[in-house]
Amino acid sequence: MTVGRTAERTAEHLGRFDVVVVGAGAGGLCVAIEAAEGGARVLVIDKLPDVGGMLHIANGEFSGAGSRRQAAHGIEDTPERHFADVMRLSHGKADEDLVWRTVRAQGETVDWLESLGFDFDPATPGLVHGHEVYSVPRTYWGVDLGRSLLRLLRARLEEVVRTGAVRLLLGTRVGSAVVSDGRVVGVTGTRADGAEVVAHGDAVVLATGGYDANPEVRNRFLPPGCEDALIACLDHATGDGLTLAAGLGADVSGDGYFIPVMGLIPDPGRPGFAVDYREAFVEVAPAYRTPHEIWVNRDGERFVAEDTTSPEHRERALLRQPGIAMHVIWDRAIAETAEPLIRNGAGDWTRERMLAEYDGGRWIVAADTLQELAERLGVDADGLAETVRRYNESVRDGTDPDHGRAVMPMPIEAPPFYGLTSVAASLLSRDGLRVNGDLAVLDRAGAPIPGLYAVGEVLGNNVFAGDNYVGGMSVTPAMTLGRELGATLARAGRDAG
Ligand SMILES: Cc1cc2nc3c(=O)[nH]c(=O)nc-3n(C[C@H](O)[C@H](O)[C@H](O)COP(=O)(O)OP(=O)(O)OC[C@H]3O[C@@H](n4cnc5c(N)ncnc54)[C@H](O)[C@@H]3O)c2cc1C
Repeated sequence: MTVGRTAERTAEHLGRFDVVVVGAGAGGLCVAIEAAEGGARVLVIDKLPDVGGMLHIANGEFSGAGSRRQAAHGIEDTPERHFADVMRLSHGKADEDLVWRTVRAQGETVDWLESLGFDFDPATPGLVHGHEVYSVPRTYWGVDLGRSLLRLLRARLEEVVRTGAVRLLLGTRVGSAVVSDGRVVGVTGTRADGAEVVAHGDAVVLATGGYDANPEVRNRFLPPGCEDALIACLDHATGDGLTLAAGLGADVSGDGYFIPVMGLIPDPGRPGFAVDYREAFVEVAPAYRTPHEIWVNRDGERFVAEDTTSPEHRERALLRQPGIAMHVIWDRAIAETAEPLIRNGAGDWTRERMLAEYDGGRWIVAADTLQELAERLGVDADGLAETVRRYNESVRDGTDPDHGRAVMPMPIEAPPFYGLTSVAASLLSRDGLRVNGDLAVLDRAGAPIPGLYAVGEVLGNNVFAGDNYVGGMSVTPAMTLGRELGATLARAGRDAG
């Protein structure tokens, strides 16, 4: 047993369950709902006082081919085509077996959500330009983004809790596994008041999400030079499941891929963290806002065409800059003309709010000269002056010999000048637990650890996206494979019983 005898004796025993699910995010909720509907007795434990995990902040964009909704929009699509897109966009580095297992059923996940009354944004299925685009519109999201998914999964969970099929234990952090004769047979946890609990289960599912809010763990996986990446996810993503399983001998991938999210703003009150994504980020995709500004590095030099339509191209360009940081530069005339540079999911960054932000000075630096602006941003002043001069020349000539930018609406020449720093961010764990096709956690010799399963971001996003972001390929595999795992574990319980 990994749990000490004293702990076992003094801990409160929660009983025996068919399935113990650790983590109540998208993945864990889907395991629990499906297992309960299949007749299993399920315990769901989460360390937070509420369910939902990353759905509270995520865009919740999910993807699926061959859905009824696509057909209703006249879009022809197949899982085979989705698979080919994922392998293309991931540069062939995603896990073929797991990708196929999930994409073949993701259309059904979309249909399932629809049948439960999901509040689809009317613009879906659509193409999403925050990542490299799919070949056909197969991405969906709710009117309230990730919260739309959460609302629906929460309602479903409440039903199975009401029937008694699921016991939900919140505010309890799982710290270790109970192991007997080499098999994981339960978990121990600590409640918020410090009391210990023990639960036994025929199967234990780790659905604990990623590690990105834990810089110590995250930086072990990031390539060198990327340690300054801002943390842009919620605090619960501390890699608990990964650490727990690694302690049991689980194999952990270490591909070292990293592609950042752009547009996140360093939080002045919380070094290393980004301003909450729900509050503000810089819109960098030209499909959603015409770029009027330039982006410079610490040397004051531009490093990419700010109007590039390839997210991957600009993200990789940012990774090559010192401190993986960039500074967005503009002037008064642009401030008066362009759409607000800052956005959020609620869409409430109006021009008036933007003007108030200039006055409030939380993130935006203003200066009467470029020299002063550069000094205040920590950018090389001569470099910035020369870059702005060259850019203004390009605006006049209508051609950008440095980076080939085509959209250059106006020069940067009217004081006050403005600057805003943005740093490459991580919000999704890239590496994670290795599993087989049944989602059984594998040990370092490649053998399943009996009784232990994993689903969701604890697997690492590389298995579904390789060396890139691929639309919807984190939350949708969490839900789709989570549902399958729940159904399979319930069936196994029925067969055994
Ligand atoms: C800003 C943002 C936008 C995103 N947008 C998208 C998107 O549009 N599309 C997409 O596919 N993906 C997106 N993602 C990623 C996606 O939301 C997540 O990968 C996915 O929701 C993870 O689900 P999960 O169930 O695996 O983990 P989580 O949702 O992180 O849930 C894990 C749960 O486990 C609990 N837990 C952790 N450790 C313990 C422990 N020791 N004991 C008990 N409980 C524990 C946590 O409290 C949490 O509730 C986004 C992420 C962010 C941050």
